[in-house]
Amino acid sequence: MRVLKFGGSSLKDFECLQQVRELIKVHGQPQSLVVLSAPGGMTDQLVELVELAESGADYDAQWQVLNARCEQLRGQVQAVYGNISDWPDFAKLSDCLAGIKLLKQCPEGTKAFVISFGERVSVALMTSMLQHDALMLSAESCVKTQGGYLDAEVDLKLSKLCFAEVLKAQSAQFYVMAGFTGSNEAGELTTLGRNGSDYSAAVAAACVEAEVCQIWTDVDGVYSADPRLIKKATKVDVLSYKEAMELSYFGAKVLHPKTILPCAKANVPCEIKNTHAPEVPGSMICAQGGGDAPVKALSSLDKLAMLTVSGPGMKGKVGMAAKVFSALAADNVSIVLITQSSCEFSISFCVHEQDLSLALSALELAFELENQAGLIEPIEVQRNLAIVTLVGDNMKAHKGLAAKFFASLAQAQVNIVAIAQDSTESAISAVVDGELCQDAVKVCHENFFTHVPSIDVFLVGCGLVGQELIKQFHKQQDWLESRNIRLNLYGVANSRKCYLNSDGVPFDNWQLALDQAQSSFDLAELSHFVKQNHLINPVIVDCSASQQVSDNYLDFLNAGFHVVAANKKANTGSYEYYQQLQQAAQAKRRHFLYETNVGAGLPVLDNLKLLFGAGDELLSFNGILSGSLSYIFGVLEDGLSLSEATNKAKLSGFTEPDPRDDLSGTDVARKLLIIARESGLPLELSDIEVESVLPKGFAEGADVDAFMEQLPSLDTAFAERVAAAAAQGKVLRYVGSIEHGKCRVGIEAVDKNHALYDIRDGENALAILSQYYQPKPFVIRGYGAGAEVTSAGVFADILKTLSR
Ligand code: ADP
Ligand code: ASP
Ligand code: MG
Repeated sequence: MRVLKFGGSSLKDFECLQQVRELIKVHGQPQSLVVLSAPGGMTDQLVELVELAESGADYDAQWQVLNARCEQLRGQVQAVYGNISDWPDFAKLSDCLAGIKLLKQCPEGTKAFVISFGERVSVALMTSMLQHDALMLSAESCVKTQGGYLDAEVDLKLSKLCFAEVLKAQSAQFYVMAGFTGSNEAGELTTLGRNGSDYSAAVAAACVEAEVCQIWTDVDGVYSADPRLIKKATKVDVLSYKEAMELSYFGAKVLHPKTILPCAKANVPCEIKNTHAPEVPGSMICAQGGGDAPVKALSSLDKLAMLTVSGPGMKGKVGMAAKVFSALAADNVSIVLITQSSCEFSISFCVHEQDLSLALSALELAFELENQAGLIEPIEVQRNLAIVTLVGDNMKAHKGLAAKFFASLAQAQVNIVAIAQDSTESAISAVVDGELCQDAVKVCHENFFTHVPSIDVFLVGCGLVGQELIKQFHKQQDWLESRNIRLNLYGVANSRKCYLNSDGVPFDNWQLALDQAQSSFDLAELSHFVKQNHLINPVIVDCSASQQVSDNYLDFLNAGFHVVAANKKANTGSYEYYQQLQQAAQAKRRHFLYETNVGAGLPVLDNLKLLFGAGDELLSFNGILSGSLSYIFGVLEDGLSLSEATNKAKLSGFTEPDPRDDLSGTDVARKLLIIARESGLPLELSDIEVESVLPKGFAEGADVDAFMEQLPSLDTAFAERVAAAAAQGKVLRYVGSIEHGKCRVGIEAVDKNHALYDIRDGENALAILSQYYQPKPFVIRGYGAGAEVTSAGVFADILKTLSR
């Protein structure tokens, strides 16, 4: 015989019922025992009715909804299959609810009757649909239970005898039985706990020694994680009983936790199948899990509280743990997980939040005397916790899995409250903050299963570099996919507006969306968005030149964002702020990256960091750090005047909109300051000696056009300087240098042998003389300006965020 169980998700409406009927006809051969849940959501409706009635509230509206639903199903079935004989007693249900409302309380036995009503509706409908081939099997006559009315435990031995007796008395091709229900020694109706029809099916399968126990539901099988939370979860083909037990115990709703034990005891394989896709192979649960993957799946269980019993009286005293747990057992509180401190000073354990007050009062009563004597501290309670569990029988054969698990939690910025591992090493669990549970599952799943890390970008500043960056994101999607990286652009902002989209900002149409956005950039809103969408690798990319944005980097890092900055303002503010940013990045395990601050796309700062990290030390530095000044000084040498050279550079787009920003030397000074700081010099911008190309006070207050008009007045003096250098075989270069800890930017005449002699036309060059690289310096050279190379540098920084 086979046992086929159909869950509520397979019995939502008449169409589903028809589908189930066909499946029973095909898969229930030659003989089967069909176990049914209530139609999807009906038990919730019944529970709500009880709660309303108990509180004395009017429940008529809810009653009408339930009635209408059942009547509709009944009408639809009768229209096709004829009269339904054993339709459940709705008058009795109505009387029960009226009684509960009158008494404002609900005895557990009555509650069991009400909440199991949906199962009786399903059985009546399906028995009629299967017509002559089917017989209704009374769960109360077969499933015998102990221990209360609502979360009853099945007595397998007794049930086996009852099943045998009942089945002997009547023969049919299909037996149809209500799940979730049984009866106690007194013959009163009991229920097996929410979601308990799986348990009913397993009990039935064990009792009739079925060849298989099929659980038909709305997913293809057991997945590597809850498919509702993790879109990329994949089906597990075969699991061992132990693996399935751990998974369901720690929250995988696809199976009720008590389901596996009866199957395992009777060695009945349990198969999970999809009612809506019966042709897809399901998951098989049997003695041997198969496969050699160390981790099969992960699950999570939320709405938990942790209690800690501690105090000097706990240490070394025999029987304290027993006392804690017997107090809880006496009140029927189930304990989900236990840990104990190694010095025996405290015992911590998790219970379902709904059991918290019961657990607390049981413990307070049990330890009243110890408490009065000061041997026990007041019981500590932490609420809103969750457990994330990794499951796999092969984990014991692999080293480093726990480390990877905990590193994943750290990556998700999730603090671990407690840890537990079972002695067979089939499961490792971590207790975490309930709010962060989904983030934890997401990162763990990514690291153990999908291996597709994601980068979640918020771009601030949509000027030339920002726009180019979005183009590059778009262009590189295939490349990223081929390397198993998901890069999502979730937000764009300029100085006025911010556009966020949880489906991703469209790469081609973002400008319109931003124009139409209603809100402006706000960190609190961004953090809320990240939380809501469970983003685990959020990066704020600053391609603006805004001081206000750079002043917020510390808050960004502290809020858990990586920061990638093309904007130089933060690193050239006070040294204190520079240090605070480095420290916050360390403490929060986030990246603060700004490679493009110096040399645009050239790999300068990263190389310096690597060198210094390997013990190198800077002896001196010389470099051309400005693309525009590289261009201007290059064409001076060709005979152009200063004003002609500046004009040409401006027209070619090499300068800032106001060329004074380049000619003043401040931009070069900022870059030099960053190099100096990266080399370990604790300098401020004011420590840098700056020789401007322009005389002090030149064209002060004038607008850009007026400035350009006045510029030719400097041409003669400048031409003389160029000629004097040329007479010595030298050229003028605008150079930043660090010698003996002193920084200077200004004009230098260099000869043919100098590393910077050939650097012109917008190229940058950086000559680093160090302990390792001497007497010839280590030179980095290439175009150091332009939107394309700069955004490529920003892109490279963004990819680096994956490593933390
Ligand atoms: P039924 O009504 O058939 O009993 P349930 O809703 O009780 O169905 O259980 C099926 C659901 O369990 C799935 O829709 C899925 O969202 C959830 N689930 C949680 N964890 C897992 C998992 N690891 N694998 C498959 N499904 C899971
Ligand atoms: N109908 C019951 C519930 O919803 C039992 C089940 O579906 O397994 O909890
Ligand atoms: Mg279920």
